[in-house]
Amino acid sequence: MNIKKVVVIGSGTMGSGIAAQIANANIDVTLLDLPSKEGSRNQITENAKERIKKSRPPLLVEKNKAELIKVGNIEDDFNEVAEADWVVEAVVERIDIKHNIYDKIQTTRKNNSIISSNTSTIPLKILSANMSDEMKKNFCITHFFNPVRYMALLEIVTEEVNDIEKINLLKQFCDEKLGKGVIICNDTPGFIGNRIGVYAMQVAMTEAFKMKISIEEADAVFGRPMGIPKTGIFGLYDLIGIDLMADVLKSFIKELPKEDPFHEVAQEIPLVTKLIETGYTGRKGKGGFYRMNKSDGKKILEAINLETGEYHPSQKINLAMGDKIDINKLIQRKDKYGEYAKSILTKVIRYAAYLIPDVSSKYIDIDDALRLGFNWTVGPFEMLSKIDTKNFIDQNNDINFFKDLKGVFEFHKRPGYLDSSVDNLRSLNLQKTFENPSANIKNASSYQVVEFTTKANALDTDSMLALKEAAQNNKSTIVINDAMQFSAGVNLNYVMEFAKNNEWSKIEKFIIDFQQTCKTIKYADKPFIAAPSGLAIGGGFEVVLHCDYNVAHTNVVLGLVESLVGLIPAGGGCKEMLWRWLQTPEGKENSEHASMKVFDLIGYAITATSPNEALPNQFFLEKDKVVINRDRQLSTAIDLLNNIEGGYEKPSQPKFNLGGSAVRDKMFEKLEALYNENKILDHGLEVGKQIAFVLSGGNTNIDNELSEDDLYNLELEAFMRLIQMPKTQERIKHTLETGKPLVN
Ligand code: NAD
Repeated sequence: MNIKKVVVIGSGTMGSGIAAQIANANIDVTLLDLPSKEGSRNQITENAKERIKKSRPPLLVEKNKAELIKVGNIEDDFNEVAEADWVVEAVVERIDIKHNIYDKIQTTRKNNSIISSNTSTIPLKILSANMSDEMKKNFCITHFFNPVRYMALLEIVTEEVNDIEKINLLKQFCDEKLGKGVIICNDTPGFIGNRIGVYAMQVAMTEAFKMKISIEEADAVFGRPMGIPKTGIFGLYDLIGIDLMADVLKSFIKELPKEDPFHEVAQEIPLVTKLIETGYTGRKGKGGFYRMNKSDGKKILEAINLETGEYHPSQKINLAMGDKIDINKLIQRKDKYGEYAKSILTKVIRYAAYLIPDVSSKYIDIDDALRLGFNWTVGPFEMLSKIDTKNFIDQNNDINFFKDLKGVFEFHKRPGYLDSSVDNLRSLNLQKTFENPSANIKNASSYQVVEFTTKANALDTDSMLALKEAAQNNKSTIVINDAMQFSAGVNLNYVMEFAKNNEWSKIEKFIIDFQQTCKTIKYADKPFIAAPSGLAIGGGFEVVLHCDYNVAHTNVVLGLVESLVGLIPAGGGCKEMLWRWLQTPEGKENSEHASMKVFDLIGYAITATSPNEALPNQFFLEKDKVVINRDRQLSTAIDLLNNIEGGYEKPSQPKFNLGGSAVRDKMFEKLEALYNENKILDHGLEVGKQIAFVLSGGNTNIDNELSEDDLYNLELEAFMRLIQMPKTQERIKHTLETGKPLVN
């Protein structure tokens, strides 16, 4: 059996997200909900489809995928269920409503079809209580996380009566077609992800109260240094909704046996109750632990004092830990931050160990659940494996830390710990052969990996060094990493430091080095493959553009966004994009077409939020590959290398015939119009002119042939002119401080 048609019942947050992801996989899906009392009978699902199309970040990889989503209502269109290979129920969390729907499904479904529920809290046994044996065999829980396109975890909860072949088929479908990291779970409360994830959140919160740690301090510790998203604990509480978290806790308190350590951290906290009662339910409410306040027309972020309940302007906490995840360094600190981190970590690891084998028999499933469902960089057992245990015990005399964990810290030596159906960076555990503060090279027998390792993988001289080193090794290379972002571009802090001291020659040297590095990887003897996910923008995308292939994750964001900070792409981005557009049929006929197209893409700092969107912009090419499951990017890149090995030919050197002032005048006309309509301001006009200068080929004409180096030089000159302008520096400073672009 193949899953070719899916019906999703319930078109709320989760049903819509699931339907959209099924459409992203090019599979027909019907979305059903209650018939509407007003408007058309299908108004509820029609509205849901509109919301899907308008969602930000987008739930669809491209708008036209919405055509695969058919809408209907459960009274007029229930016969759709008869044709479905898989029916997903995602209606409100009420057992009576769910049971009614299953009764209807049972009389309508075709034999052998798979039925699942997206419930977060109701045990499988209760859901399936009234089902026939045949339906029970094919019924399971498929617990997706919100937002479905972006959260990789999918828990499939099964019971003994299940038809294992059917479950395996569903698992494979959800992994390969829907891109999920699938974990098969036992039927226990909260399954794996929420059980341990919510426990960890509660520990971080209750310890902060106990140890008198401020919320800003708590979020700084229970955040990046531990490999946890920067929302930390209180920021995450606000994001999820403080009221919703209270409901989740109630459900755990009800379901878990009295002796479960969860109860110790799930007690009601008066401040939290007061916040909910007064409408401070988080970001969706009046605010929460943090709130935005206006003073003198300015927005100020405020943080609550956990003791008094009063708000104060939020403080920036500097742990002086650098940008890296460093659990050892954190827990060995002799201050309250070290104590706080240690107490969270001990409790979370102990609880994770306590959950084995009842909740899961595999350590890696617990690590994966936190990695894929809560975006932790490493799970609790991987954290434990990174702790220098001997040193830690010697220094802290803290033997208790491991007392309850008998044998646990040997877990990673157990057979099967890293058992994974796919080869990814974690499971392969490759040997590092080169390392500097910004990148490393890992070696496998037939290829090597370059991994960037800075914050947001911002690029600097050390990143370049690793790429050049890899190019010299005469080995095929895959540029990939496990972090949230492939690379958010060149490290602007680094550039600004030089700019502040008027060290222009150092900036020039850096840009030349960047260009030379890109050229080196392009013409290396062996192929380079980029496998980006998250952001691959600015300089990060320029690295991708110089690789032979792009094996991109479906949710990748690609684009040249330098103009937003008053700069131009100077690592060969202008040149490569020009070349790509010159290769299109329109570009071959008329180079002006190519110059004008790239002028728009770079001038407007256009980004594509998927390879599908990137294709028409030439950010992505037909020869490149899309991978929906991030954990399968490396293996896809390896397969590609195996296919091209031997047959690899270096790219030939491009030649550019560009229009010079003839095409530049047209670009200037566009800029003038934008300026007169106030769509760009003075500096926008200046930046636009510099981009125009490069993309028109500078002082050239259509009969004159420019080399790749000529284009690199044009980029360099324009970059150097712009970086020395105070208004560009203002833009950079603003973006570094606020994360947002400055329009000047
Ligand atoms: P929601 O409230 O956003 O949507 C529920 C939908 O069900 C609504 O559109 C409603 O009209 C529809 N509905 C109600 N009765 C119906 C019926 N008889 N027939 C058809 N449709 C009916 O809820 P949600 O957040 O999407 O949650 C859906 C399920 O997913 C729940 O079981 C929930 O526990 C689970 N879940 C939610 C999340 C989350 O983050 N929201 C995460 C994982 C799992």
